Amino acid sequence: MRRMSLLLAVAIGACACAAGVHAARSGVPPLIFPVVGTVAYQDDFGDPRGALRHEGNDLLADKRAPAVAVEAGTVKYWTTSASAGCMLYLYGASGTMYEYIDLNNDLTAVNDNKGTCVKGTAYAVADGAHVDAGQQIGYVGDSGDANGIHPHLHFEVHPKGRAATDPFPFLNKAAHLLVVAPPAGSTFTLKLTGTLVALDTGELTLNVQSLAAWPSHLKQVKVNRPISLTVSDPTAVATGLLPGTKITVWTLPAPGTLDAITGAPGALTLDKFR
Ligand SMILES: [Zn+2]
Repeated sequence: MRRMSLLLAVAIGACACAAGVHAARSGVPPLIFPVVGTVAYQDDFGDPRGALRHEGNDLLADKRAPAVAVEAGTVKYWTTSASAGCMLYLYGASGTMYEYIDLNNDLTAVNDNKGTCVKGTAYAVADGAHVDAGQQIGYVGDSGDANGIHPHLHFEVHPKGRAATDPFPFLNKAAHLLVVAPPAGSTFTLKLTGTLVALDTGELTLNVQSLAAWPSHLKQVKVNRPISLTVSDPTAVATGLLPGTKITVWTLPAPGTLDAITGAPGALTLDKFR
């Protein structure tokens, strides 16, 4: 919730340019959405916070929801700020720097504040780790000045490592992950539940409502997005199904490519069907 700058008050409203143009000039690349799962956020960049202004967006999510790398880069811990709590910097390969603030500091399901800013509690990787886009790097929480309020990720975008810019337009265009990337060299599978949109030769599209993932055991609800699966074995699918039918499908094990973990069309293959 913290960190602000009077300088930003000048920047807000000064740029009437289209968001796309702004993004291109900023050098900020297309991002992976920094939290996996159900998230609520609004454009609270620049909002008054005491005498200062909010330098990021607050992404409200479940306690310990995975925080993932928005692009490939290097993680650096920051553990000594009373207001930021457990925080990390992601130095992106593009030259953009991102701040992940108010990460988890609890050891139990309640707000115990008994954890410290260490791997396994606040962070999912070691200090100094090089990470891929979509790799889990932290856990959403309520440390620092977020203590006791709704768990969220305070997320900042610093183009070229300089002053914070509004994350909102980048977040709105970001690709959401179905699942965190599995460990390098391994695979993941998904169980998807939703309604049939279309069933054509070689492809099944469903509007996914909920999912479960292995080996991460991550569950998501209110997904509400269409996913198209490759059908390599036509006998795996019942015939004569009408659009709108509620279905559950499993995917074949897939490597953790960006296409696969974002559910790009055809990147996942149907295993079985119910
Ligand atoms: Zn915040």
